Amino acid sequence: MSAVGGDDHGGNDALAAPSPTTSIDTLLAHGAFEPAADTGAIAPPIVTATTFARDRAQRLPSPRMYGRDQNPTGEPAEALLTALEGGAASLLFASGMAAATAVFQTLAPGDHVIAQRTMYWGLRSWLIEFCARWRLDLSLVDAHVAGAVAAAVRPGATRLIWLETPANPTWDVVDIADAAAVAHAAGARLCVDSTAATPVHTRPLALGADLVMHAATKYLNGHSDVVAGALCTARRDPAWARLCAHRHDAGAILGPFEAWLLHRGMRTLAVRVRRQSASALAIAHALEGHPAIAAVLYPGLPGHAGHAVACRQMAGGFGGMLSIQVRGGAAAALAMSGRLRLFARATSLGGVESLIEHRASVEPPDSPVPHDLLRLSIGLEDPAELIDDLRAALA
Ligand code: PLP
Repeated sequence: MSAVGGDDHGGNDALAAPSPTTSIDTLLAHGAFEPAADTGAIAPPIVTATTFARDRAQRLPSPRMYGRDQNPTGEPAEALLTALEGGAASLLFASGMAAATAVFQTLAPGDHVIAQRTMYWGLRSWLIEFCARWRLDLSLVDAHVAGAVAAAVRPGATRLIWLETPANPTWDVVDIADAAAVAHAAGARLCVDSTAATPVHTRPLALGADLVMHAATKYLNGHSDVVAGALCTARRDPAWARLCAHRHDAGAILGPFEAWLLHRGMRTLAVRVRRQSASALAIAHALEGHPAIAAVLYPGLPGHAGHAVACRQMAGGFGGMLSIQVRGGAAAALAMSGRLRLFARATSLGGVESLIEHRASVEPPDSPVPHDLLRLSIGLEDPAELIDDLRAALA
């Protein structure tokens, strides 16, 4: 970084020193920062400054010049994510959508992009519109079906493959290692939206992905009180430099208060996610075969089409998200969700409180989501009480 110009857009070198541990629990507990040398403060500070003073010789005392993307408050969260994902660097963004759209906005007109047909609908809708306007050639594929990505790839023309696994809201599982091999053989890069899996269960970079994206609004923060996004790269390559410059120029940064809250939330990621995954599995087993339910969609169930791949690439659990399809269609699903006492009827996922949502009501009419589907985000409540609540609402 330049000490005078402060014009490096890369972020967090100072805190990204190699950690002596690879245990996710120890990494999270220590938070990827050292107590302050001057005060010994055990929690990182919130720096609100938007600008940084030079000395009389016009030198900056640190690499920071201006607060758009050089405010240090987000650096512990970026360093922690880098360590959790086993990457080379991370960037925080103002939202998950800001992080995801940055990846596509750094492509060039004419590039071919492959993305999943089933994924977070907000990104799919934006992508279809953006690719048409930006003259990106978009192929939407059922990436969880073996061979689908390989059939869509165009060597030399495909620049990016975008996957979400497990994918909203059917929790289809895509084989990351397989997609990475296809991408690299064609000269393309692979980016994985790992929001639902979290680094607790899946490390996409170790499976060959080039980039990982998180809607940090969800599990990373975990308390439904911050909107944030993040990217983590396998290496500092020209594509990463373009992303750093894009965040610097377009300015979709995370403010210091949100960045501090995100880091605080991340410290408990593993204990939250393991508990949520165990509860989701117990709930999936309890609901499977219930006469009022047509299907339980959860990768942890042996009957789920993605179970074998999930067992290979998800360690220690299958995530806290599941969906159920209620017999009787949309009306029955909505009525059932209205009878629940412990689930809040709200969008989003990954918080400490359980949420339920009828996705067809919030997705556009052309969405492939089944109309009888309810999406459940399992929180930290007593799983037996959640099962009782669901059974009572289904009765
Ligand atoms: N990716 C996934 C899997 C999501 O569920 C969401 C939001 O629901 C996003 C990306 C977008 O994140 P944000 O709402 O923080 O913009």
